[in-house]
Amino acid sequence: MTRILAIEDEPDVALVLRVLFERSGYGFDLATNGRVGLRKVHDVRPDLVVLDVGLPEMDGWTVLERVRDFADVPILMLSAHSEESEKVRGLRGGADDYLAKPFNNNELLARVEALLRRVRSTERADRTEAGVYDDGVVRVDLRQRQVEVDGRPVDLTRTEFRLLSVLVQHAGAVLSPNQLLDQVWNDPTGIAPERVKFVVLRLRRKLGWSGDASPIAAVRGVGYRYRPQG
Ligand code: CA
Repeated sequence: MTRILAIEDEPDVALVLRVLFERSGYGFDLATNGRVGLRKVHDVRPDLVVLDVGLPEMDGWTVLERVRDFADVPILMLSAHSEESEKVRGLRGGADDYLAKPFNNNELLARVEALLRRVRSTERADRTEAGVYDDGVVRVDLRQRQVEVDGRPVDLTRTEFRLLSVLVQHAGAVLSPNQLLDQVWNDPTGIAPERVKFVVLRLRRKLGWSGDASPIAAVRGVGYRYRPQG
């Protein structure tokens, strides 16, 4: 059963979410504050998280940041604000989608289903990838999903791995944020620069590649390029 975790402190909204998702055949779990929510993301491993921005103690932005340290479960943020800047902030922080309150139930359900479909289609694509990229410094085993830099294994989330795989498979070529969004997230419709930039920064940090010498180079106004090493 597909499991959805909502992190939401308002009982009325939580009830709406429970009825909506359970009626649609999903498993539903609720956390009423960020701390419990984080623990549940870790322990229950939900398939998707609906995350309220306005939470007591630890707000939704902090929860988002902490979840992204260990999981790339799809996250849809809910916020009382409808400004575009909030949406951009969410996507820049690694959220997958954003909806303003009060939301339309059918729209929320449609967005959730779209996110779940996207994850499944990238999982299928992962299974059919084969081969190994190796330039002497960076080694990416596409089937085993293993990455080594200078012989040292690096632990990446699925999205980070897909991003690196796509970049090395097009080594030397510049890929635009939209091309990356299409190939890595299987989503040509999102706010590309923000989402892509977030994962690029994260991937570079994990691989120990920062600054101008990074093998993953940003080409201003165009996109990103992997520069073959070795
Ligand atoms: Ca709230």
